[in-house]
Amino acid sequence: MFNFGGIKFFEMQEFGTPITVEKAPQSKIDQVDFNQLGFGQIFTDHMMISDYKDGAWSIPRIVPYQNISLPPSARVFHYGQAVFEGMKAYRDDRGDAWLFRPEENFKRINRSCERLCMPAFDQAYFMDGLSALLKLEQDWIKPGANNSLYIRPFVIATQAGVAANPATEYSFIIICSPVNAYFAGEVRVKIAEHYSRAAKGGFGYAKAAGNYAGQFYPTKLAHEEGFQQVVWTDAATHEYIEEAGTMNIFVRIGDQLITGPTSDSILDGVTRKSLIDMAKASGVDIVVRPIKVQEVLDAYQNGTLKELFGAGTAAVVSPIKGFGYQEQKYELQDQPDSYAELFKQKLTDLQRNLAPDPFGWRVKAY
Ligand SMILES: *Cc1c(COP(=O)(O)O)cnc(C)c1O
Repeated sequence: MFNFGGIKFFEMQEFGTPITVEKAPQSKIDQVDFNQLGFGQIFTDHMMISDYKDGAWSIPRIVPYQNISLPPSARVFHYGQAVFEGMKAYRDDRGDAWLFRPEENFKRINRSCERLCMPAFDQAYFMDGLSALLKLEQDWIKPGANNSLYIRPFVIATQAGVAANPATEYSFIIICSPVNAYFAGEVRVKIAEHYSRAAKGGFGYAKAAGNYAGQFYPTKLAHEEGFQQVVWTDAATHEYIEEAGTMNIFVRIGDQLITGPTSDSILDGVTRKSLIDMAKASGVDIVVRPIKVQEVLDAYQNGTLKELFGAGTAAVVSPIKGFGYQEQKYELQDQPDSYAELFKQKLTDLQRNLAPDPFGWRVKAY
């Protein structure tokens, strides 16, 4: 440890990358009620940051969680050159902390960056920076089925100037937020007939900030009709089901589980692909193919539509109670042998080290 202008710095040597840490003078953790967290409201004491300049990323630094200062002309504010990730850390009953397939998030943020003409980040910087941050924030990863630490890496274009071209300067930042299990209440969805989330040739497969901004207004309209989310359909014909709000979607017809193939407009969710592999491993009939809205309506009419659910990191699996299409509303019956429940349990048990991990998905957080 060395003292620099009254601020305590030290280097975390145990990770391959020589990460410098500026410790927060005092932790906020004692002021936090871990049973009343909401989602993404409270952030931990530190954040990781790396800056891109002159064609290279700086070695990540860990600093106290704080506001960032940018010129008003920074590209991110004008052209939305921003991408992000969402992942979680879990504490098991033995005290170990785990991440779930973090490499997938790393690879995806770089795919998102490529699509938005942003520079790729370094894998060692990502893994070491994240591990160092989580080690420092370890008290924020609470045990118990209800608790996890939500991790939000993001990249923004920081370069000054409003010329409409890609920036040459960026910041890669990771912030962390303790969360309780996500329960959205009963979810009913509106199947989109006019609006779309993403189009062929667009950037729907990227976790880009702008994709979310474009969802807010149609989702608000759906709210006014009594729905919590929009089920996005393909932009060209609105005949095919693509995603549920900010989650991938699964449809169960009879005992077959169906989800759409990833594309320009269906994001390659880590939860989605994990559920596909788990379903295969447990002998559940799982098919990846385009799903027509009409097919879902027909299955509803003939009584074979058993379940609809969303899948994503925040809520893991989110059962859909009902849906609206054109002027009609449809209600689904509760399933005694629900796939949503089954796979939610299986996945969270694996993530929390309560079950074996035949896939090698669980990774020590630090
Ligand atoms: C993040 C996201 C998902 C879910 O991805 P996970 O990796 O499972 O969290 C699905 N759809 C969209 C549009 C997303 O942004």
